Amino acid sequence: MNIVLLGAPGSGKGTQASLITEQYGLPHISTGDMFRENIREKTPLGVLAKSYIDKGQLCPDDVTVKMVEERLSRADCKKGFLLDGFPRTISQAEALEKFVKITCVLDIEVPLDKLLGRLTGRRCCEKCGESFHVSVIGKTEICPKCGGKLYTRADDNEETVQSRLNVYASQTASLIDFYQRKGVLKSVNGDAAVEEVFAAVQEVLNTL
Ligand code: ADP
Ligand code: ZN
Repeated sequence: MNIVLLGAPGSGKGTQASLITEQYGLPHISTGDMFRENIREKTPLGVLAKSYIDKGQLCPDDVTVKMVEERLSRADCKKGFLLDGFPRTISQAEALEKFVKITCVLDIEVPLDKLLGRLTGRRCCEKCGESFHVSVIGKTEICPKCGGKLYTRADDNEETVQSRLNVYASQTASLIDFYQRKGVLKSVNGDAAVEEVFAAVQEVLNTL
């Protein structure tokens, strides 16, 4: 199964991705995580990516496509994969088509007015990478899952979030139509509890 997860920033892609990975054993390929790892390790790619990510803009298509193509060519992706955060532009989607066949594109739908609060209230775990919302976990700085330290992502401040949402509307949302026309799009309601969203996701994946 070659799966693409679509959805606005804050739609819960990352959370669903880790549940899918656990249940179906697919490698989780998150371009956001890959960029952040490069930023942490101060690689040339990381330095370049940081200058875009900090402004809430997309990293250039050419470097992003190259990074994904290299990742998908590794042995662990031969039996399938879960792409999270890629493609984000039509040009990335067209490039992707040239090197793999996508089984299904899952679009997680959340009303736009809920996204800002979801992102600015997000806390991430340094250790396990999971993210949580302050409305659920309160003010704690300890990860409820693994006990690691929680932090707020640098690009989760209100100004950057606003530009990420604008980028989504202007460059990424059109992928819904793109994949609809190819007949591979499945939508699930993301405006529900994590378990309910995952139940809907499983319903789709189990029929593939
Ligand atoms: P979210 O889905 O919560 O916005 P991600 O962790 O997926 O966050 O991505 C964080 C940032 O990394 C994006 O705002 C963008 O700058 C960069 N990025 C991630 N994926 C891509 C991509 N496919 N193309 C270009 N930039 C990307
Ligand atoms: Zn944790």
